Amino acid sequence: MVDILVKGGTLPDGTQADIAITGDRIVDVAPGIAAKAGEVIDATGDLVSPPFVDPHFHMDATLSYGIPRINASGTLLEGIALWGELKHETTIDAMIDRALRYCDWAVSMGLLAIRSHVDTCDDSLKGVQAMLQLRETVKPYLDLQLVAFPQDGLYRDPTARENTLRALDMGLDVVGGIPHFERTMADGAASVRDLCEIAADRGLPVDMHCDESDDPMSRHIETLAAETVRCGLQGRVAGSHLTSMHSMDNYYVSKLLALVAEAGISAIPNPLINIMLQGRHDTYPKRRGLTRVREMQALGIPVGWGQDCVRDPWYSLGTADMLDVAFMGLHVAQMSAPEEMARCFEMVTETNAAIIGLPDYGLRKGALASLVVLDAADPIEAVRLRPDRLCVISKGRVVSRKARNDAALTLPGRPATVHRRH
Ligand SMILES: [Zn+2]
Repeated sequence: MVDILVKGGTLPDGTQADIAITGDRIVDVAPGIAAKAGEVIDATGDLVSPPFVDPHFHMDATLSYGIPRINASGTLLEGIALWGELKHETTIDAMIDRALRYCDWAVSMGLLAIRSHVDTCDDSLKGVQAMLQLRETVKPYLDLQLVAFPQDGLYRDPTARENTLRALDMGLDVVGGIPHFERTMADGAASVRDLCEIAADRGLPVDMHCDESDDPMSRHIETLAAETVRCGLQGRVAGSHLTSMHSMDNYYVSKLLALVAEAGISAIPNPLINIMLQGRHDTYPKRRGLTRVREMQALGIPVGWGQDCVRDPWYSLGTADMLDVAFMGLHVAQMSAPEEMARCFEMVTETNAAIIGLPDYGLRKGALASLVVLDAADPIEAVRLRPDRLCVISKGRVVSRKARNDAALTLPGRPATVHRRH
């Protein structure tokens, strides 16, 4: 007797298997499991995947679009200024309320683990308090990792360093940074050194907003790679955005990527936000501003897709669907070969989970019983359709269900319903 049996689904690698769940664990993955179950979920013909993972988000700012006004220029810098106004007037309760609503969206989309940066440039550390409360509230069904993020610059903001250390003392999980926003390149490099030392001292991972710029001379990723090796942080460091790499000289990149690979750094591009923000100072040709995804993957550098923003001062859209992120990333990085399209699905599941170090993740015996049933046959179709999440299970509990939703046609001589699988 098991608690839940998910029957007949197709796993992302194409194999068909039933999945048996007892308590919060997967107890078996095999074809034709005969055990009796408290609940049987029929996934015949449907894709059954481990949950989606977002390795880069801003939970303290989410769903605040239009408060107190919208970002008229559409640039990163106006977004930072706008957030600077909002964060001083908002309250802990309002932040938690908006974030909880976002977490509901996430759960319904099968997104069950999120690494969120939290702004530490505020003497009251309201956002940090709010997100620590939120982390506990959602823990039974959603894993939230929190990055101490000095949004206004570790050195550029006079109390940022002290407040970032306080935030880490309060229990944030990861050391963040924003070297390209410091006043000078030298300050940016110094901030990377300082933050890597802080992470090494405290035994924490690092995830920096790094070179989110169209300036080809923004080369903080080089310092991040060197400091990762110097501080012995290999395998614990991620560089988020890395958009300046889009504009860098090819010869320089050929040296740089080898350093990044040697340091065991992961890359987290955020294609929805960066296709919106980058190239705003260009006329034509207009740069896309996405980092060099395929080139890094060719060198074995782990690259995941992050969402970054949903309905906030930087990005006006977003749905908590990591398949929207994969869909945009696939287009902008021109990942059109079948294995590349499938890899885009893997990036928002397995790769993202590995990058943020999620324990017990995956569809295997002994792993946490978290999964999502999608109305698609395989990962490529899932990216194409961004389909309904028919059932979401988190830690052994069904947390969301959705009915299959085919359109009803009223055309003479044509089928009564349209199912867009192909
Ligand atoms: Zn970000």
